[in-house]
Amino acid sequence: MKAQCPLCNDALYLNSSCTLCEGTRVVDRDLYDRFYALAQKLRNETQIPHQYFEIDSLVLYNVSLSGDPDRFQEYAVYKRREDGNITKVESITVNAPSTRVSTLAGLLMSINKQPLSDFTDQIRAYRDQLTAEEFEAFKKRFAFFAAAY
Ligand SMILES: [Zn+2]
Repeated sequence: MKAQCPLCNDALYLNSSCTLCEGTRVVDRDLYDRFYALAQKLRNETQIPHQYFEIDSLVLYNVSLSGDPDRFQEYAVYKRREDGNITKVESITVNAPSTRVSTLAGLLMSINKQPLSDFTDQIRAYRDQLTAEEFEAFKKRFAFFAAAY
């Protein structure tokens, strides 16, 4: 099952070459539905500090300084390697007024699809990665934090 490419269907992206659908103008429906559901949650709800989400090859981590929904809600986007290490490749604002849920879903899908080698400059700039063990340790600490929050 296919869905229309959310980036090609956004006027803001019409003239750029689409890294998501590569000109086919369609994407996998199941994957799109999963990313759309997460994008909707990120767009419409604020999360507690350090809240993270795992979806396909991505880990999103809430770095917002405020839980105020009227302020920008920021997420660091990490990509998982096959060895389980995660590397920060992007930083995104999920609730800018002009951002549509479908566009946010499309941007995340595009980051998900691109290989790590496409993010060499960002990886060098962010210098932020965790080993699989460090990420597991973070998850345990977060579970305590979330329970106490
Ligand atoms: Zn497209």
